[in-house]
Amino acid sequence: MTDTQSTDRPMVRAEDIRKSFGTLEVLKGINLEVRRGEVMTLLGPSGSGKTTFIRLINHLETISAGRLTVDGQLVGYREHQGKLYELKESEVAGMRAEIGMVFQRFNLFPHMTVLQNIMAAPVGVRGERRQVVKERAMGLLERVGLSDKSHAYPGALSGGQQQRVAIARALAMEPKLMLFDEPTSALDPELVGEVLDVMKDLARSGMTMIVVTHEMGFAREVADSVVFMDDGVVVEAGPPQDVLVNPQHRRTQDFLSKVL
Ligand code: ADP
Repeated sequence: MTDTQSTDRPMVRAEDIRKSFGTLEVLKGINLEVRRGEVMTLLGPSGSGKTTFIRLINHLETISAGRLTVDGQLVGYREHQGKLYELKESEVAGMRAEIGMVFQRFNLFPHMTVLQNIMAAPVGVRGERRQVVKERAMGLLERVGLSDKSHAYPGALSGGQQQRVAIARALAMEPKLMLFDEPTSALDPELVGEVLDVMKDLARSGMTMIVVTHEMGFAREVADSVVFMDDGVVVEAGPPQDVLVNPQHRRTQDFLSKVL
């Protein structure tokens, strides 16, 4: 890319992000930055606001206050001559199409084959040619080790296989950012490794990723940065060797002593 501005620009930038549900404030001023190609893991006790934060990035929740940008574009609003205008539905859809999200539950369409699941959005949303998408989908299935399952229905697959299809489906839209919300926590323990392997491969390929997970091995091995959240704030953030090995804050130490 020749445009240095766009390559230097952070992929995600959160400035004093707040989110309330009614009177309950669940995010109390989050500041963080994810650089292009960076893998960030978000850790923290249940209820600390991790899921809410990544849902804000993908327009699944609205921000109560603060400024959030993805690839330099303001989330939720358009800025014009110093004023903010709410994004139109089509603009939101456009931004969301560039962000892949993988949930705890695999959320595949049960009545479609694996291949149809992967092709649905590029063909249906982006209007791409079927043959082009099919080739990409088959390439992605190979990448997640499921070439032989293209005609299977989700119900015939294990949880780990379904989650790998969900990752392939997100990648089929060629996203610039991938969000993972506890992608392995609904899996039987023996199936966790195959999903983490796919995610590690993706991380090494240079994908920008934000991963909410309790998998400390993943965080240690592939994360560039680890953010520990508690009660709606970022308590501690930095490289894994600092946050995981030598945490400075009591709350981080307590949490890690329970999960490690
Ligand atoms: P985490 O991912 O760290 O477990 P969440 O972001 O899921 O935390 O939740 C943070 C807090 O926000 C919790 O107290 C949760 O009950 C609350 N919360 C999340 N979503 C909603 C919602 N749609 N309505 C009301 N409260 C919510």
